[in-house]
Amino acid sequence: MNETILIVEDEQELCMTLGDRLRSEGYAVDFAADGDAGWEKASQLPFDLIILDIMLPARSGLDLCTDIRRAGLATPILLLTARSQTVEKVIGLRLGADDYVTKPFDTLELLARIGALLRRSTTMSDFSLSRGPDSYQFGPLLLDLRRTQLTRNGEPVALTAQEFQLLRYFAEHPGVTLSRDQLLREVWGHKVGTFTRTVDVHVASLRQKLEVSPKKPEMIITVPGLGYRFQP
Ligand code: CA
Repeated sequence: MNETILIVEDEQELCMTLGDRLRSEGYAVDFAADGDAGWEKASQLPFDLIILDIMLPARSGLDLCTDIRRAGLATPILLLTARSQTVEKVIGLRLGADDYVTKPFDTLELLARIGALLRRSTTMSDFSLSRGPDSYQFGPLLLDLRRTQLTRNGEPVALTAQEFQLLRYFAEHPGVTLSRDQLLREVWGHKVGTFTRTVDVHVASLRQKLEVSPKKPEMIITVPGLGYRFQP
């Protein structure tokens, strides 16, 4: 599948030339012409990379960068800065941008930076989990918190209330090893009649519903002697 890049930039001509070039390199491209539109798209749709101009109408690139990271999105961000914006570059990196390119930039250099960021985010196995305001997306699965529903490619996957809460807790703690005790405490709230075995039973049933091969789980991993780790 093509990697998708969001360009948030108000200079239309730059958007067009850059968009054409990225498409010719095999990327899928989407655009937003101001900071608010950028936020709408970045928070609702999954992107592999965001190219973000600092000087934008409505919401500045730096504010948007802050908002994206505050929302828990780990999408790589490449800032476009003007030569004079030395301070903004530094602030941008501190706010969570991954790299920057100074305008006017050499397209080959920009492509090299994009390639490096995309490689880095896959090799770091930076979780394929992306977070919207009320949802988590991991691969074809979408966990919708508002509707308390899980879908795979848009088709509902039936979960019990307890399975849903457990999956939600996993999604909130990607890559973290969680002990059975912690899961019992946080998901079941120490109800009477719950045992660590309760966790195992629910993990097993979630695996049946989520994993491609439930006997060789790749999403909810058993960490021997410790508990479980969600690796979306
Ligand atoms: Ca601009």
